[in-house]
Amino acid sequence: MSDNILELRHIGKRFGGVQALDDVSMTIRAGEIHCLAGENGSGKSTIIKVISGIYTPDSGEISIGGETVAKLDPIKAVNHGIQVIYQDFSLFGNLTVAENLAMNTFVMQGRKRMDWRAARALAQRALDRLGVSMDLDAEVGSLPTANKQIVAIARAVVADARLIIMDEPTTALTRHEVDALFAIVRDLQAQGIAVLFVSHKMREMLEISERLTVFRNGRKVAEGAMADFDEAAITRAMTGAEIATD
Ligand code: ADP
Ligand code: MG
Repeated sequence: MSDNILELRHIGKRFGGVQALDDVSMTIRAGEIHCLAGENGSGKSTIIKVISGIYTPDSGEISIGGETVAKLDPIKAVNHGIQVIYQDFSLFGNLTVAENLAMNTFVMQGRKRMDWRAARALAQRALDRLGVSMDLDAEVGSLPTANKQIVAIARAVVADARLIIMDEPTTALTRHEVDALFAIVRDLQAQGIAVLFVSHKMREMLEISERLTVFRNGRKVAEGAMADFDEAAITRAMTGAEIATD
């Protein structure tokens, strides 16, 4: 059992003439809140797709939970506890909260019909783990964005996530909703689930993260404990106004 939930070593990924990721190594420790920062086009979404098995890197190695995973694909990633919360949440808008949360479990169990009582019990347990209460019978499509996001996070928890990746999760949230999200993120952490928080919002990164990795032009340009960074240092790393530590 490794202390690192994820290790990327020398990852490269090129699209035509664009070197989207250039010799990127990074580590996410089990149960930590880790921020990935970088300006538009710096490679953040590409690394998420590599970690979740959607893109095959041109070079490099990936270990999950201390085990090197050859030919990572989306199913292997999920089986290793990697979950991504996409900006559109990928939920079923015309199904209820309980149905959204129970769907994958029921499919894997080969059930042909929803068992409502089991679905609601499963959904309630997942929401309890996040410390939130919600109408289990509400149609997800009718929920406010912040609640859709909570359902998506709860679904990741149901799927036995060990690392939850959130791509710019605060974009559509009010300050109050950001506070609620951060409370959930800390709850996840208390349960040993690591969170990779992808952002370019300085204050939020400083508030929520314990460690930081910064990308610029497809390269990792800074990495370390959040306590060792301030706004100016992060900005310098992101923009390259000054050479940052590697
Ligand atoms: P970020 O998420 O940090 O904004 P991306 O990972 O989306 O950055 O993009 C990194 C670079 O790779 C950019 O130059 C982008 O245009 C390019 N890129 C990303 N995905 C593709 C793709 N599927 N095809 C071609 N170029 C891509
Ligand atoms: Mg992106």
